[in-house]
Amino acid sequence: MTAANVRAACVIGWPVEHSRSPLIHNYWLKHHGIAGEYRREAVPPDDFADFLGSLAARGYVGANVTVPHKEAALALSEPDERARAVGAANTLWFDGVLRSTNTDVEGFLRNLDACAPKWDRDVSNAVLLGAGGAARAVIYGLITRGVGRIVVLNRTFGRAELLQQIFGARIQAARWEELYSTLADAALLVNATTLGMRSKPQLAINLARLPSQAIVADLVYVPVETPLIAQAKRRGLRCADGLGMLLHQAVRGFALWFGTTPEVTPELRALVEADLAPAAAERPPVT
Ligand code: NAP
Repeated sequence: MTAANVRAACVIGWPVEHSRSPLIHNYWLKHHGIAGEYRREAVPPDDFADFLGSLAARGYVGANVTVPHKEAALALSEPDERARAVGAANTLWFDGVLRSTNTDVEGFLRNLDACAPKWDRDVSNAVLLGAGGAARAVIYGLITRGVGRIVVLNRTFGRAELLQQIFGARIQAARWEELYSTLADAALLVNATTLGMRSKPQLAINLARLPSQAIVADLVYVPVETPLIAQAKRRGLRCADGLGMLLHQAVRGFALWFGTTPEVTPELRALVEADLAPAAAERPPVT
């Protein structure tokens, strides 16, 4: 429980130790001199509905939700249009009722805006790798910015086809084997798979065919500089990394809970990057 004069929010997950949200939000609380707290809450799936039902009684003005609760959070709250379209909620707040949104959408877009200003003037054709929850947030964001054609490649082709059914004619489902051929006219390449993440398989890709004006975005942020981002930098392409998205997606929740819109600064980025460094350096498990 929290003292009555202190606003508190939390991240709810199972497990939740890995979450960098407390580091980000507590940095902003301190930076803005706000008497608030942001905590981790480890809640198993069977207890999630009860926990959410008692969120206000526990002293919370809202919460972030992470794996595996994002779909349940959607079902147990009043979601906005983007959370509904993405099929998952990651940010909750009280406004008479418990409302929810999905801030991965704006995290992805604002990071691109910061890394490649005015990118949406030139991108009519994007290639998206992956068809999970993060890919849905990327698609929703790209469509709202007017991207005309999004080629979705996924290991499990049926999941890419499903996204075509959900999001309509701008989506073209393609098979993983078509990756190399799709790159030639891609103005934006986005990795929304887990490939390239520490302890996961690498993303086998050759960026030589990407146009020289193309932008490369990777949602993976452990390590911060993924092999995909490193390869794109070597080619001199504009890049947007997963850490930037992680930081930008946190802004809205903070504003909703604590009444101040915080900034993503180089100092905050350096703080989180330093915290991620040991995790990125860990050796992958021997299989
Ligand atoms: P998810 O729903 O589990 O989807 C995982 C995706 O990766 C699926 O498309 C899956 O393909 C693909 N995949 C997994 N292993 C693969 C392999 N060996 N070969 C080819 N494809 C493989 O996960 P998610 O929530 O969408 O997250 C995806 C990534 O985005 C994660 O790395 C996550 O950390 C990152 N993310 C970052 C942010 C941020 O703020 N930076 C936010 C959200 C997510 P199948 O469909 O064939 O299984």
